Amino acid sequence: MERYRILPDMTVDLDHFETRYEGEMDKKDGKKLLKEHNKTLRDLQEVMFAEHKQKLMVVLQGIDTAGKDGTIEHVFGDVNPQGTKVANFKVPTPRELDHDYLWRVHPHTPGSGEIVIFNRSHYEDVLVVRVHELVPKPVWEKRYDHINAFEKLLADEGTTILKFFLYISKNEQAERFLARIEEPHKRWKFNPGDLEERSHWGKYQHAYEAMLSKTSTPWAPWYIVPSDRKWYRNLVVASVIVEKLQSLDMQPPEELPDIDSYRKQLIEMIGKAAE
Ligand code: ADP
Repeated sequence: MERYRILPDMTVDLDHFETRYEGEMDKKDGKKLLKEHNKTLRDLQEVMFAEHKQKLMVVLQGIDTAGKDGTIEHVFGDVNPQGTKVANFKVPTPRELDHDYLWRVHPHTPGSGEIVIFNRSHYEDVLVVRVHELVPKPVWEKRYDHINAFEKLLADEGTTILKFFLYISKNEQAERFLARIEEPHKRWKFNPGDLEERSHWGKYQHAYEAMLSKTSTPWAPWYIVPSDRKWYRNLVVASVIVEKLQSLDMQPPEELPDIDSYRKQLIEMIGKAAE
């Protein structure tokens, strides 16, 4: 999976990245492997919660329909909701806009033993904000440095950061919009404003390229995930997270001393209760 990782000195041209996986693995095997990763992730998260030491921040970005919600569902669907949170970043409120753009972000970062999935993030402040010129260029262009420094702070204080750009083709997006309209249970997800956003496709590509080129750091790497095939997208994200968590070598808290004496007491209590 490391081939999807963007190295810090890379200049990203999205034309050179695939949106659709065309490798040898088929969907059936991919889904089977994902199920195994789901189980491993569930166990790792349990140890993480018990150990109360590591913190994991997962950032998901991608154009509308790229699959941020689906990734959360299919990668994290089996983990215990205790200790795992999703932070959604929508259009900032007036109060949020009264502050710097990282003000609303920091309180959502994970604490010890927690995983937080960022469904959109502070990167919107160099994406939608840049595309629509919501602040002048001299303001947004400084933000790449702020973001790197902010993530370095989090990393220095013990947070593991993994960032995924879910990359789909323009045609795949049109098909997914159509599916949203055609399938009644998905219709609520369709927002006519999304089509207006689609008309800025080229500008978004440039904004993504700048984001990926400037903010993939040793302490908070970006992965470009080919996401036209949903099963493959889920598999890449799950694999990277599982591999990273395994490398942290987490341990549950030390065994209780005197476990034998507690066992004996409890057996006696059960015996008494049965009398
Ligand atoms: P979803 O994430 O499911 O698409 P919404 O349809 O509510 O949820 O979209 C959230 C919207 O909020 C997106 O259009 C996104 O660009 C916008 N947004 C998020 N952060 C910011 C920001 N900092 N400034 C302006 N718009 C933002």
